[in-house]
This record gives sequence, structure tokens and C-alpha cells, in this order.
Amino acid sequence: MELILNGVTKTYGAKQALQGITLRLGPGIVGLLGPNGAGKSTLMRLLATIEKPTEGSILWDGADIAKHPNRLREVLGYLPQQFGVYPNMTPVEFLEYIAAMKGLSRKSAKRRIQELLEMLNLGADSKRLLGGFSGGMKQRVGIAQSLLNDPSLLIVDEPTVGLDPEERIRFRNILSMLASNRIVILSTHIVTDIETVAPQIAVMLKGKLVRYAEPEEWLQIV
Ligand code: ADP
Ligand code: ADP
Repeated sequence: MELILNGVTKTYGAKQALQGITLRLGPGIVGLLGPNGAGKSTLMRLLATIEKPTEGSILWDGADIAKHPNRLREVLGYLPQQFGVYPNMTPVEFLEYIAAMKGLSRKSAKRRIQELLEMLNLGADSKRLLGGFSGGMKQRVGIAQSLLNDPSLLIVDEPTVGLDPEERIRFRNILSMLASNRIVILSTHIVTDIETVAPQIAVMLKGKLVRYAEPEEWLQIV
């Protein structure tokens, strides 16, 4: 599995949200760090194939995703910023609903949902209504929906906003575990979110990739 961004630019009218981003990623976690307005969410939306680059290309295992969006969609998991759950559903009902929307078969979805709820420590709460869940628990349901198709590329956008410290740590541990056999892109403006989990970081500023660093290097930057 390999994700390549080649001179990716995105403009909205006169606004340049991304300017010539070039990056090559393999399995593991990469932290995408930058202040608000840096272009992180725009980049996430391009990777989620919700939008297309104005210039440049994004390649998944060699295929240009502007021409072959399904190649990436099939292997993509996405946890958007401020992901909402339906308060009147149980986690099982909610995940079955998302699985149906994604076109997964009912039978394999059921099995996968049980697996995910166990893995994410939600098994005991699987029959409670989501409206009564804490922020951290809801976020674990959010990560569960992103994992329904066992994605090779997992994109999580500002996942720890509003979580208490204990849930933050728990969430980071989950991401570390998930990164053993997939590419995980973790977008955040909070340095402590990634310092313990991301072996590489990409630092963005005003639509540009200003630094890409390996672990030993990056603590000196931030
Ligand atoms: P971040 O996620 O790092 O906060 P964004 O990707 O949301 O940054 O935004 C990058 C820049 O692009 C900002 O200046 C933002 O106002 C602008 N932008 C993002 N999306 C749009 C859009 N749909 N239309 C116009 N400008 C946008
Ligand atoms: P493949 O099966 O060869 O990987 P896809 O199934 O990903 O290709 O896409 C088939 C065709 O449908 C593509 O060539 C593309 O032009 C078009 N297509 C599908 N979704 C989109 C989209 N969101 N934007 C633009 N073109 C799309």
C-alpha cells in the first residue's frame, strides 16, 4: 500500500487552500500538524475523494484517484471532524445503518460490528442508546464506522477535540494498534495528540507542506 501526492493544489475562487503538496506514504501513522486554516481538512477531503485537486495528482498504489476514485474508496476509512451519531440508536443499530449505506452485506457487517465493538471496548454498552454515551465513547463508535470495511487507508480529522485526557490516551492507543497494517493519517492542531503515536509528521502552514520529519528530528521542530 502506497499513497503518493504529486504537486497537489486546491483553489476555491481566489483562495489557495493547498499549494503544491508532494508526499509519499506507506504503512504507519503520519501526523498532519498545522494551525487552523493550514489546509488540513481540505487535504483530508481530497484524500476522501469528496473533492478533486485543482492541479496535481493523488495516486493510490499507482492509480490516479481522480480517474479511478473507487480504487481508493474501497479501501478508505474516514472519520470526519465532529462526527455525529444518532442519539436514538444503539451502537449496533447505528453501525448496521452505516454498513448498509456503504453497501456491505448484512451478514458480514453483523460479524464485523461485533468484532469492532469488542476491540474498541464498547461490547458492554452495545445495547445502550448513543445519546447517553460520553464524547470519547461516541468517538470510538466513530472510529468503528470508519473500520467497517477494514480500510488500508484510515483518515482521522481532529479526533480528540473535546475528549477528556483519559479518552485521549485511549484513542491514541487505538490508533497505534490500527497502524500496524494500514496507513493512518491523523490530522490535528494539538502537538500532544501525535507526539506519542506518530513516527512521522507533516507540518502544514498556509496551504504548504513546510516540513516532513522522522521521529528523532521532529521534536526539535514543534
Ligand atoms: P484546516 O483544516 O487546516 O483548518 P482548511 O483546509 O479548513 O484548513 O482551510 C484551508 C484554507 O482554505 C482556509 O483559508 C479556508 O478558509 C479555505 N477553505 C477551505 N475550504 C473552503 C471552501 N470550501 N471554500 C472557500 N475556502 C475554503
Ligand atoms: P476503476 O474501476 O477503473 O478503478 P472507478 O470505478 O474508480 O475506476 O471509476 C470509474 C470511472 O468513473 C472513472 O474513470 C471516473 O472517471 C468515473 N468517476 C467515478 N466517480 C467519480 C467522481 N467522483 N468524480 C469523477 N469521476 C468519477
